[in-house]
Amino acid sequence: TTLVEDLKARLRDVPDFPKPGIVFKDITPVLADPRLFGRVITAMSAPFRGQHVTKVVGVEARGFLLGAPMALALNAGFVPARKPGKLPHRSVVERYSLEYGSDGVEMHEDAILQGERVLIVDDVLATGGTAEATAKLVSRLGGELVGFSFLLSLDFLEGPNRLGRERVTTLLTF
Ligand code: 5GP
Repeated sequence: TTLVEDLKARLRDVPDFPKPGIVFKDITPVLADPRLFGRVITAMSAPFRGQHVTKVVGVEARGFLLGAPMALALNAGFVPARKPGKLPHRSVVERYSLEYGSDGVEMHEDAILQGERVLIVDDVLATGGTAEATAKLVSRLGGELVGFSFLLSLDFLEGPNRLGRERVTTLLTF
């Protein structure tokens, strides 16, 4: 069976989470299977081999779970992008608006050095607001964005258009 078939069989749809009307894609059954988890990390890393990525930025929280093993696979450092107020050292924040209210991402100000080649990783691309804000932080810190890698994209929410299709890599789309 192909990776896409195996992923489709393991991803779990959870209706009405976190709010009524939303069908949440739960990736925890994928992480719980060591062979499938390993294939996912290999496949997500493959397009970026030889691209001289020096930092992988993982977006809280599921982006940590995929981004950290990808960083090791790519021989790059790992940087967490967190919800505001969680990081201990001096940080930079980027706010973005949601349908109702706003959210933000924060990174340590010394997490990325001028000219570093950066890959941004998360589990799901929905509207692209989180990834776009993370990319803004990377560029404010002087990093060069190599691309974005997601396990899956909910394409009907137009995330790839917002981020620039050529910069986005996903294993599967819905
Ligand atoms: P966006 O900013 O693209 O609208 O939302 C993406 C963020 O929300 C990501 O950090 C992602 O983890 C989370 N997210 C949105 N929808 C889902 C979903 O159905 N499943 C999972 N696992 N995460 C989601």
